[in-house]
Amino acid sequence: MKEVFGVPVSSGIAIGCAFLFTGNEIPDIPHYLIKKSQIEDEWGKFVRATETVAAKIRLHLKNTEQAIHKEQSDILKAHLMMVEDIDLHEQIQAHLQTKLENVEWAVRSVSHEMTQKLLGAKDALLRERAVDIADISHEILNELLSIHEISLSDLSEDVIVVAHDLLPSQAITADKKHVKALVCEAGGKTSHVAILARSFEIPAIMGVSNATREIHNGDLLIVNSESGAVIINPDEKELKKHRSAILGLEKHHQKDLALSALPAETKDGIRFSLNANIELPSDVDKLEPYGAEGIGLFRTEFLFLAAIGATGEETQYDAYSTVIKAMNGAPVKIRTCDAGGDKILPEFFPVEEKNPLLGWRAIRFSLAMPEVFKAQLRAILRAGVHGNAEIIFPLVSGIEELDKALALLEEAKEQCRQNGDPIAENIKVGVMIEVPSAALTADILIKKVDFFSIGTNDLVQYSLAVDRGNEKVSYLASPTHPAILRLIKMTIEKAHQAGKKVSLCGEMAASPFFTPLLIGLGLDEFSMHPSAIPRVKSIIRNCLSDDCKKLAQRALKRQSGEEVNKLLEKFSSAHLMYCEELISSTVL
Ligand code: PEP
Ligand code: MG
Repeated sequence: MKEVFGVPVSSGIAIGCAFLFTGNEIPDIPHYLIKKSQIEDEWGKFVRATETVAAKIRLHLKNTEQAIHKEQSDILKAHLMMVEDIDLHEQIQAHLQTKLENVEWAVRSVSHEMTQKLLGAKDALLRERAVDIADISHEILNELLSIHEISLSDLSEDVIVVAHDLLPSQAITADKKHVKALVCEAGGKTSHVAILARSFEIPAIMGVSNATREIHNGDLLIVNSESGAVIINPDEKELKKHRSAILGLEKHHQKDLALSALPAETKDGIRFSLNANIELPSDVDKLEPYGAEGIGLFRTEFLFLAAIGATGEETQYDAYSTVIKAMNGAPVKIRTCDAGGDKILPEFFPVEEKNPLLGWRAIRFSLAMPEVFKAQLRAILRAGVHGNAEIIFPLVSGIEELDKALALLEEAKEQCRQNGDPIAENIKVGVMIEVPSAALTADILIKKVDFFSIGTNDLVQYSLAVDRGNEKVSYLASPTHPAILRLIKMTIEKAHQAGKKVSLCGEMAASPFFTPLLIGLGLDEFSMHPSAIPRVKSIIRNCLSDDCKKLAQRALKRQSGEEVNKLLEKFSSAHLMYCEELISSTVL
């Protein structure tokens, strides 16, 4: 028996067998010169690899034609044409003959050149073709290098996934029925994989250094997110102890659920909206027991990540309509695709960026892909007639981006009208405040929109220069840093001066520890993973708004995040004594 420790990011306890996942490692592509006499051999390798890739695509098409959307099968057909494209074959042959480099390098170079050319095209449709080239060259390279990617989507038994790191795209496509917990060496509390683990309601521990060295495939593990421990091959005593702890957690859970019908109201009658963050339409089925009043954040990029080709307007219209109808008139804040950063959609990001978090992300990606963006906006506008949809633009850094996004929204509306499609004409529009420049120009931005939604996960990342997925610097990622408190305060003040509301949908909203402070700062709405709602609600119900205001005033005078945290701890023990267990037992 052995124990390793990390940072718990999604609560719960699980017992199960380890499955070591290594599918995330990018292979090094060999690069060497060949002799003229080797050209024929290298060319033969290329021809065989493309034949295998083409055969695989044909088989996939044959087996799944009925089950997949038309858009997906169109993509597969387009890929098939490209793999067999004479122009690609001629370019590879020319590269082998003129540059005398190995075939893997020839594939890499030719596809890189082709994608760069396409990305520079004026026509958005041509730019989008770059994605397909990158996709098929990846397949051909895998074949040439004999790499067979393991997927988490076709597991046949219950496992605890152990990995160095996971991509959000790998997590979202994982077989949730069989993944019982997650242990990663990388990642932090606000990383997107942590967010997904909470959404799947599975325990997860990140920042477990050496996890992939200490843990072997098939080891029996206890993942205890209450203590941050992963116990490897536990003895009978530990197993018994943890089995009874699992029953204890279930009792707590039942107590939480009893709160669901009560209003989120302070002792002196100030009412707050507690909404849910969701990643996929099916998440709405889990909301009811927790008492979510609306959807405060629908992270639509996960629709794109979950299924290649789910980018079409009709697929999105169905997804948004499902959520909007299920919410029965309650507000549904739909955030436009926040791709990029760590949420790479292979079909749109053929070229790796040096600084993806500062690069082609979120609204920047949407503005560069106007056809993709307008298709999403049309889908939201049309689905909006089924209830109460709102739109949020992510990662806006200034008024120019907002103006462009709003102009494209008008174009999307006009296209719908011309098509005769009924739409939510007066749909509300908001901006995510997640970049310091947005918070600092809140007074300018608020004039053009109906509300703000503060994304503290990114606001902390960009204000404090802390990569939210890097466990080595996660100790710096404090939402109570004075800079963050000032930016939140400024954002709320500017919105209120304009008579508009502010929601907070970063992970800070999910932690009962911060609830009194956020009430005191004047926040109107909280949005969080649904299972956190009862705990935040019970804190709100035990607070007096005046106490919270005084707390916020004091917090704003503190000099460091640590000092603010001490103040919050003191406040909890003085005012929320019976909630202390609840606050300390919360992962975030
Ligand atoms: C945030 O940045 O706080 C946020 C809610 O957006 P995401 O976590 O999806 O980046
Ligand atoms: Mg964000």
